[in-house]
Amino acid sequence: MSLLELLQHIQRQRLILRYGRADRIVLWSPNRVVSRSTRQAIRDHAQTLRQMLSMHDVNVCPNASLHREEWRYAGQGRYVCGACERLQAWIMPRKREASYREQKAS
Ligand SMILES: [Zn+2]
Repeated sequence: MSLLELLQHIQRQRLILRYGRADRIVLWSPNRVVSRSTRQAIRDHAQTLRQMLSMHDVNVCPNASLHREEWRYAGQGRYVCGACERLQAWIMPRKREASYREQKAS
């Protein structure tokens, strides 16, 4: 699955991603059935997804229709989601918060 296909799938299915242990990206979508190919694609594109999550890129926003009014232009052709920024802070495991802040600052 290409990154573009994965991002389209994430938005269609309203899947929420967050950081996991050991630089992994995990799904934060309790009680959702997610296909093996989707899980594999998330592993394949973990590095790019991490960057997108750290920037709150609108392409990993799980709910464009609900969050769109909080989207703002961040320069260089990128849009970020203010709602996802708050959501990520809330669902982030506490232990990961420090390294997340470091990555965001760099
Ligand atoms: Zn969002």
